[in-house]
Amino acid sequence: MKTIIEPFRIKSVEMLRMTTRDEREKLIREAYYNLFYLHSDDVLIDLLTDSGTTAMSNRQWAGIMLGDESYAGSPSYFRFKEAVRNLMPFKHIIPTHQGRAAEKILFSILGGKDVIVPNNTHFDTTRANVEATGARALDLITAAGLDPASTDPFKGNIDLEALKDCLEKDGDKVPLVMITITNNSGSGQPVSMANIRAAAKLCKAHGTPLFLDACRFAENAWFIKKKEEGYQNKSILEIVREIFSYADGMTMSAKKDGLVNMGGWLALNDEAWAMEARNLLILTEGFPTYGGLAGRDLEAIAIGLEEVVNEDYLEYRITSTSYLGKSLTKMGVPIVQPPGGHAIYVDARAMLPHIPPLEYPGQALAVELYKMGGIRACEIGTVMFGRQTDGSEKPAAQDLVRLAIPRRVYTQSHIDYVIECFKEVYTGREKLKGFRIIYEPPMLRHFTAKFTLL
Ligand SMILES: *Cc1c(COP(=O)(O)O)cnc(C)c1O
Repeated sequence: MKTIIEPFRIKSVEMLRMTTRDEREKLIREAYYNLFYLHSDDVLIDLLTDSGTTAMSNRQWAGIMLGDESYAGSPSYFRFKEAVRNLMPFKHIIPTHQGRAAEKILFSILGGKDVIVPNNTHFDTTRANVEATGARALDLITAAGLDPASTDPFKGNIDLEALKDCLEKDGDKVPLVMITITNNSGSGQPVSMANIRAAAKLCKAHGTPLFLDACRFAENAWFIKKKEEGYQNKSILEIVREIFSYADGMTMSAKKDGLVNMGGWLALNDEAWAMEARNLLILTEGFPTYGGLAGRDLEAIAIGLEEVVNEDYLEYRITSTSYLGKSLTKMGVPIVQPPGGHAIYVDARAMLPHIPPLEYPGQALAVELYKMGGIRACEIGTVMFGRQTDGSEKPAAQDLVRLAIPRRVYTQSHIDYVIECFKEVYTGREKLKGFRIIYEPPMLRHFTAKFTLL
């Protein structure tokens, strides 16, 4: 069967508010052409992020009612811990309110001046938490990972040669090595089991722990099952357990493959680090059996972790994302190949060659998608990265527009609608115009910048 069928039916619906093109033109103008200023109920299909936007299941909502809100020793914590341990057999499981809180605690212990933290690609909060301690965040991605046209199946892999060099030269400055699965800042590309295994071997030889930034571990496991030799007949559960068997710890944002709207954790084996981490946790998040979460949140995560490794779910999830990617490719829209797990990245600079990078082709495309169909996407390009610390500006490496797909939220026909809107935008692409920034803050300008149409 070719039809992608959602492996769920819908028990509770959330109505969308339809708007006309005229209304949307007015709304986006009043939002200074910055999609972050839009009210989300003026958005029809919200592809801004896949983080915390998951639809929970009936089982999770039932779990919410079972949440036990005891300050210490809640049964919800023990259910959460066992659910994590079932997949990731670490000794210490420390709940936090989201992924960055786990990062903050981890790098408060291991970061510092003269410290180097290698990663395939640091996610932006990870980089910020490493750098906030004075340490250096080193990205060691392979050449294929940097080439948008390469169809290598594992473009998220860490560069093993570069890692070996780093550990040989500066090993004494490296308290841990991280690998991000899937590689969010590298367009959601997966990491192979062979790469994780080889990196773990290198780390072991140098006595350096390997940690996984594992926000999308289940999506990564699905790519391994589908694309890596020797894994076709293994279950997702087996693959997930093998992935974590190579690691000494992990950070997690449960807002992704935890299938919840808020939550995260830090897990590790080292006794002394765990003790320090719990002390920091008490300072900023809460008692070790709830961290930054309510008991009901812990229940929802425990159930989400059972559901996310379901193969019917993952089949639907990854097929639906790649269906969008393939349909855009077929109509001529340039995207980062191959489609990643959680999002499709459109190469706006290639699609709109008449708009120079400093007139923000990504912003032009994102704004037009909203005007055309009420779709909200996210510019990842010169608006986000172009401002230099001295206030000057230069083109980012790429001008991309990310279409991130929330989990279990949109149906096949919503995706077909997105594709149809793209067809219209693509046909009229030569008429699109760039933007000029009329207000920007000194940092993270993409959130609050104001634009005028050129
Ligand atoms: C989202 C994310 C984080 C941070 O998690 P939050 O829950 O948003 O704090 C860290 N690493 C990666 C790869 C992520 O995608």
